[in-house]
Order: sequence, then structure tokens, then C-alpha cells
Amino acid sequence: MLKNITASIQYLKGVGPKRAKLLSSLGIKTIEDLFYHFPRRYEDRTKFRSISQLEKGQIQTIKAKVLARNLRESWKRRGFSIFEIVVGDDTGKIFCVWFNQPYLKNYFKVAETVILYGKVQEYGQRLQMTSPEFEIVQETDTQFLDIGRIVPIYTLPEGITQRYFRKLAKECLDENIVRIKEILSYDMRARHNFLNLAKSLINIHFPGSLQLQKEAYRRLSFEEFFLFQIPIILRKAKKKECLGIAHQVEGNLPGSFIKSLAFKLTQAQERVIREIKADMASSQQMQRLLQGDVGSGKTVVATFAAMIALQGGYQVAFMVPTEILARQHFEKIKNQISKIKNGNKSINIGLLISSVNKKEKDKIYENISEGKIDIIIGTHALLEEGVEFKNLGLVIIDEQHKFGVAQRAILPSKGTNPDLLIMTATPIPRTLAITLYGDLDISVIDELPRGRKPVDTQLVNEEQREMVYRLIETKIKEGRQVYIVYPIIEESFELDLHAAVEMYAELKKDIFPRFKIGLIHGRLKSKEQEKAMSEFVCGKTNILVATTVLEVGVDVANASVMVIEHAERFGLSQLHQLRGRIGRGPYQSYCILIAQAKSEEARLRIKAIVENNDGFRIAEEDLKIRGPGEFFGKRQHGLSDLKIANPLTQMQLLKTAREEAIKVINLDPRLESTQNTLLREKLIGRFPDYHKLNIA
Ligand code: ADP
Ligand code: MG
Repeated sequence: MLKNITASIQYLKGVGPKRAKLLSSLGIKTIEDLFYHFPRRYEDRTKFRSISQLEKGQIQTIKAKVLARNLRESWKRRGFSIFEIVVGDDTGKIFCVWFNQPYLKNYFKVAETVILYGKVQEYGQRLQMTSPEFEIVQETDTQFLDIGRIVPIYTLPEGITQRYFRKLAKECLDENIVRIKEILSYDMRARHNFLNLAKSLINIHFPGSLQLQKEAYRRLSFEEFFLFQIPIILRKAKKKECLGIAHQVEGNLPGSFIKSLAFKLTQAQERVIREIKADMASSQQMQRLLQGDVGSGKTVVATFAAMIALQGGYQVAFMVPTEILARQHFEKIKNQISKIKNGNKSINIGLLISSVNKKEKDKIYENISEGKIDIIIGTHALLEEGVEFKNLGLVIIDEQHKFGVAQRAILPSKGTNPDLLIMTATPIPRTLAITLYGDLDISVIDELPRGRKPVDTQLVNEEQREMVYRLIETKIKEGRQVYIVYPIIEESFELDLHAAVEMYAELKKDIFPRFKIGLIHGRLKSKEQEKAMSEFVCGKTNILVATTVLEVGVDVANASVMVIEHAERFGLSQLHQLRGRIGRGPYQSYCILIAQAKSEEARLRIKAIVENNDGFRIAEEDLKIRGPGEFFGKRQHGLSDLKIANPLTQMQLLKTAREEAIKVINLDPRLESTQNTLLREKLIGRFPDYHKLNIA
């Protein structure tokens, strides 16, 4: 009977309801799903060894004749049995042993040829394989599934054996391969030398050779990338239609802002400013992601963009993830623009955080809606309903990875297509960024301000604590300031907080009684946080004991030492962010990690942070250690849909897939041509809300 490949696997020979249920736990419900359940790895079982050449301790494949067989069943322990065969070739003999599988005696007959695959051991004079995989060679057989070939190994639930699954996949492929529909056009395949889909599926499961497996892998990875890119490209095309504000970009205000700065912009900052200017001048809505390592000077660039919006009479909203950061940006920007004028008006800047009282808040709301505040800096508090703008022209979101996708969308909706600039200090390789945030334009600041000295990062253990204290003392005497950071994680919040507070008390009382020490953590009242921070900023305190609230943005150039306690408990990107708090001024800075790495992963993280200073390199290492799923978090995008394609190792292919997706959408934006019918069907099947993207 002809089956559609979307038919349930339950009706396949040898499946039935029970196995169908097991398979559905892997997401395999239809024949097509079965095709797309790719092997986890392969074993090359093509090369037979002669018995005399077997290497002990290695997993190897032999082809030999059954010389004798024997089943021993235990009298004492019911159900315990040993089945044993002796096989031989021209060069020698080897024993094969299986426990508790008495039925095997029906499989092996003396004088038959078998292929065996397993680990070779030596017991006294005797060579042995224990529980090898096997295939019995029948003269008529031309193909074996489990042996004598490159054998696929799948991820399978208990109750489904490799052997069973291979057979199922093979029969299913043989029977249905003619019904597989190609979704990549002939031209596209020809351009990139891709195998067709049927051949790819056959060779990903049962590779005719390693070369064919590679080609199948390339083609199927491409397909995944391609299908993943199309919705992104469509979204981007749709956004292009979004008319926004054509800002007046030339003019006095941005220019006088730059002149008022105490430093010269880096070339990278200048380049990014040009990109932003072009975006803001255009009537299309700007949707730009600005990536730059910690300390690369993103805030100045954002403030420049704000000046452009202001001089046209628009308001600017600047959202950051923490109160500490909001206050710091507020102070800093206020200071920077205090002397410059917008026409003959001075610029009004406001701060909105959750902890201000109702009365104050209402006043701020009023000032925003009446247009009395030009730039409002704030936390999530900006997202509240009461916040309404008179004339919102630019939205800036700092440290965007701390906000969810939905949160990021709220603020722009408070204006009429205001320009949008989002910033991140967790940079990722550009190609990857394009694929993830492909509907955004991307700018990169890939250069640090001149004169920065790389932070000297060192790993120490508990025994070296005294030495660390001496370094702190020396640096404070030289006039510098110090952070001491404690990890606080959700699961052990109270305990961790307690440890941090206790350590603070000890430092104050016993270790550095002569120095001024501050404490800051997320449980402190807003006012107390503010006090602790401002005392540190103005140099009143020498040491700031802190939790991860420091992670984002804090900028004190005089701080040149950071001690991170229990560094093994921090994530890699988090360590890099923390370390970014020092090395911001002209002083040589030191980051001391006190750590006892217990797991391999923790060890890799520490190694990576000690060896690398560049945020892009760190991000790559982090990606490697954690894998894309963990690194990006599942909720943000479709990366978890990728089954075999790996954006890290297949960047070039990903780029190609993106280019091809753009080409297809440019020629046929609604995927209406006959050439794209199958592609369109596939996309609609896969993404149920596809109609929103204009193609259904
Ligand atoms: P981040 O990219 O981490 O947000 P910031 O914008 O906070 O970095 O900048 C870090 C520090 O470097 C700030 O004190 C800022 O004033 C300073 N800075 C920015 N650009 C330059 C520059 N071109 N030269 C010197 N210092 C700069
Ligand atoms: Mg910043």
C-alpha cells in the first residue's frame, strides 16, 4: 500500500501502538519524522581485521566462521546463562560471549559466516569479545545494516534497540523514498553542489561512504539553516515597510556634544556613529543592534544618537536593566550635557526607577507626557502604562540580553515608529549575530579607547588569600579602589547573601580595619544602594563588597582591583562582564579569581577567562563550552529547532543559506511561484503562524 510520508508510523510493519508511543517520545510521529531523526554519530565498521592482527583493548570488526557453540545455563541461579561461540579465520580463533541471552543459540550455526563488532580482550591465552554486535552473513545478502558498513548510532529511548531502529529506518526509506519531495530548487542545488533530498536522507542514515555522509550532512544542514532564515528575512522585509522618522542629523547639538567630550572618539565609535546617522536620517525606522565589548564606549554613541533626536524636538527613552546603572547613566549624561544647549534651551533629563514614591512618579509621568523631559533614563519602570510620551523619537535599550523579546517591544510602541537602538556587551560572532538578530541591522565597536591596559587576570587558591589581601592593601595605598564580588545564585539565595554579608563584616572588623568598606547587594533598599554606590564613585570608600548587581555597566575608572570569590560559580560571560568593571582608567588593573573548580566545565570557564581578554573570543569559548542552546537561552529564537546544523562549526554554510533565502524572497516575496510551492508548504507546516508573514 502506498503511504503518504505524513502517515503515522504506527501502521508500519513491526511498529504497533507500544513502539509508536516510545518513538513519539523522540518526536517521531510520522514517516517523515523518522527520516529526520538523524544519527547521533557513526561507527566505521567497514574494515575487517584478521584475527591475528586484532589489537587488545580496541573496538574492531572481524569476519569469521563459526567453529563451535555452547550454551551454559546455571543450575543455581535461575535465568543466568552464558552463550559462547568460537569463530575463526585463516589466522586464528576468538571466543565471543553473551550473558543471559540463551535465544542466541538459534541464531548461530556452525560453519556459517558472521561479522562481529566489539572490544577485544585477552584472558590468559584466550582472545574474547564480550557481547559483540553481530550480523550473520547469508550468501544472498548484499547489504548489512549493523556491520560491514558505516553504521549509524541513534539517540533512542529504552525499549528501542539500535538494531531495531536501523531496520525500521532502512525499510521505511526503501519504501518511501520516491515520495520525498525536494524543496530546494534545481538551480540552488546546482550552484552549491548539493545532493538531492532523497539521496541526502539515505546517506545521512546509511552512508555509502564517509564522503557521502559528509555531503548529506552539508545538504541537510543547509536546509535547516535555510528554513530557519526565511522567516527572519521575511520579518526584515516587512519591517522595511515600516515608516519612521526622518531625523535631521546634521546640526549643532550632536556636534557640540562631541566637542564637549574630554576624549577623542575611537575610529570604531566614529564608524558606528556614521551608520546610526544614516539610519536616523532615513525615513525608515532604525532597528539597529550595537555590539561592543565591555568598556568599548557604547554609551557615548547612544548619547550622540539622543542628541540627533533632541535637536528635532523629539524625546528619547533610555532603558537599562538595573537601578544602579540607571542612576549612573543619569548622572554621567546629565554631567556631559550640562554645558550644551539645544538651540537656546537647556536639555532636561529625567530618571525613572521603580523605587521612587507615587507622588514623584506621577510628577515624572506628567513631565514626560507634556514633553518637559527630553531624555528619560530608567529601568523596567519605563514600561509601565502610566508612561506616555508627547513625542518619542528614539528608544535606546542597553544590555539588551537582560530583557526578554516582549519587553523590548513595549517601549517603541509608546511612540509612532521611533528609531530603535539596542546595545549589548555580550558580543557574538557577526555571522551568528546576523542569523539570530537577522531582522536587525548590526553595528560593532571592535576597538577599545586608547591607553587601556589589558586586565591582568589570575587564578589563586584559598592558601594564597593572604597574598591577595596584600595586593589590595598596596593598591589602596596607591590611591586605587577595589571590588570584592560574591556569587549569588537563585537556588541558594539566602545562604549566599548571608556569606557575602558575613565576609563584609569580617573584612571590615579584622582584615582591613583601617580602610573604608562599602556593601551593595540587590536586597538593600534603593536609597542604601544609591548611597553605597555614590560613596564608592566619589572615592569615599576604598573597597566595595558586592554581589552580581555590579555585573552590568558600572563605570568607576579609579577601581583597579577586582577579587571574585568562588569564581567557579559564575558563568563565563558573567565573569567577563564583571571584569569589565575594572581596567577602565589608565591604571594597570588586576582581576583575582579565588576558585576551586570542581567540574570540568568550571575548569574550562576559568581557563578561558584567564587566557582571554577579548569579549568576542570569550563569547566564542562560552558558546563552545555550553553549546548554542544554553548560551542563547531557549526562549529567544529558533536555534533549538536546528537538529544537526551547527552555527558554530558551519558559519560559512549559514551565511550561504542566508544569502539564498534573501535571493528567494527578493524574487518571490510571497513564495507564490510554482518553483516555491513545496517550500511554501513546508514552511506553513512548520510555522503555524506563517500567515503573519504574508505568505500563507
Ligand atoms: P560600555 O561599552 O561598556 O557601555 P561605556 O560607554 O560605559 O562602555 O564607556 C566606558 C568608559 O570609557 C566610560 O567612562 C566612557 O566615558 C569612556 N570612553 C568612552 N569612549 C571613550 C574614548 N573614545 N576614549 C576614552 N574614553 C572613552
Ligand atoms: Mg554600557
